[in-house]
Amino acid sequence: MTEAQKHFAVIGHPINHSLSPKIHTYFAKEAGLAISYEAILSPLDKFNETLHTLMQKHYGGINVTLPFKKEAYLFSQHHSKEAKIAEAVNTLVFKSGEVTGHNTDGLGLVGDLTFNLKVTLHQKKILLMGAGGAAEGVIYSLLENKPLQLTLTNRTIEKSMAIKHKMDEYAEKFHVDLNVIEIKKLAHHYYDVIINATSASLHESELHIDDKVFHTGSFAYDMMYGKETYFIKKAKSQHAKTSDGLGMLVEQAAEAFYIWHGIKPDTKSVIDLLSAS
Ligand code: NDP
Repeated sequence: MTEAQKHFAVIGHPINHSLSPKIHTYFAKEAGLAISYEAILSPLDKFNETLHTLMQKHYGGINVTLPFKKEAYLFSQHHSKEAKIAEAVNTLVFKSGEVTGHNTDGLGLVGDLTFNLKVTLHQKKILLMGAGGAAEGVIYSLLENKPLQLTLTNRTIEKSMAIKHKMDEYAEKFHVDLNVIEIKKLAHHYYDVIINATSASLHESELHIDDKVFHTGSFAYDMMYGKETYFIKKAKSQHAKTSDGLGMLVEQAAEAFYIWHGIKPDTKSVIDLLSAS
């Protein structure tokens, strides 16, 4: 292993809550790799400078979280397919002075839903709430699984419309009915899988979603983790099955680990460990 393959980090603002150092350190230990992985707080207006400094120090790669995923996309000279479509990057690879940006959020979400939670997406009706970086980052992966329908909704509905416009060609490619609906009209429709990609619970604010959106047979997934959100409480009150986003966090980290080290880590033991703590 060269010096450049030893040092890794996650950058965000804020960052002290991040579980990524714990996850990557665990993966590395299991794989027998001697790497360092730290959490770095970047000033909001100095993201590029922070990255340049880390490149000079021969870091091998960086994970990027809120609010820098768009800036990381612009910083990258090369992009994976997922990063290019989402126009957002959560994993950077530094190699020979060149920067490649990846987005592993979509694979992380779909991996958690289909592999860990055994939720079928194929030919199902999916509702995705939110139109920020997280929502945009997962749409391509959801479409790739060929659901019958993918419905987008957001407090600011114009953002959902813009994303639909951008993603229509992929919906057509995978034969998915991609549509947009206002939050207040949701109760008139049935969805098999309901995904919350809003940051409402991060700000302790209520998500105005009707109880009737949830049913006994539906699966409610909140990308937020670490606490029982209003969304999850509401879904449980209607006897829907639920999950928080801890599994997605671990799965997207595993994809990043694979990109950097070429090793697929075992995710179940980390999810169990973090859930217990
Ligand atoms: P952004 O800031 O980019 O987007 C926030 C979204 O939430 C927007 O669609 C916004 O709507 C909506 N929103 C915020 N407050 C409310 C509210 N009170 N009611 C309704 N809608 C609201 O954030 P991200 O997309 O990056 O992240 C979203 C969530 O996903 C966060 O909680 C984040 O922690 C989580 N996440 C989890 C991951 C995991 O691995 N588990 C990975 C990535 C993200 P509007 O457009 O109207 O402002």
